[in-house]
Amino acid sequence: MSIDPTLDYDDQNIFAKILRGEIPNRTVYEDDYVLAFHDINPQAPHHILVIPKGAYVSWDDFSSRGNDNEITAFVRGVGHVAREAGLVDSGYRLMANIGHDAHQEVPHLHVHIFAGKPLGPMINSG
Ligand code: AMP
Repeated sequence: MSIDPTLDYDDQNIFAKILRGEIPNRTVYEDDYVLAFHDINPQAPHHILVIPKGAYVSWDDFSSRGNDNEITAFVRGVGHVAREAGLVDSGYRLMANIGHDAHQEVPHLHVHIFAGKPLGPMINSG
């Protein structure tokens, strides 16, 4: 079930609970602004989620309300995680699902990092 990105931030979403330490995660990287952890249902040999620690629903929400420190840290965090995971030579894919048509399930902004095998076409044409 996908979410409505125009809704206000829901602080009961699963990533908000992870950020509050209410449910566990397998952390890959953390700093003041960013948390990265393994996806619970990996779709590739490497499947890492990177999230801002602030309460942002989507990319458009984050890019309009996020401050410069948060945005810089998020962009650098994604690159840092990819480098530290050793994904640069073989390549990797970044994906952010936003809203209904993209099937965003968790209403807290996240970037997926996929890697570890040929990842196929950019988008499912079906
Ligand atoms: P999206 O469809 O882009 O919103 O993706 C949400 C992702 O969150 C999916 O890939 C899920 O497998 C992942 N996910 C859901 N719950 C957890 C969790 N507790 N820990 C790690 N990943 C999760």
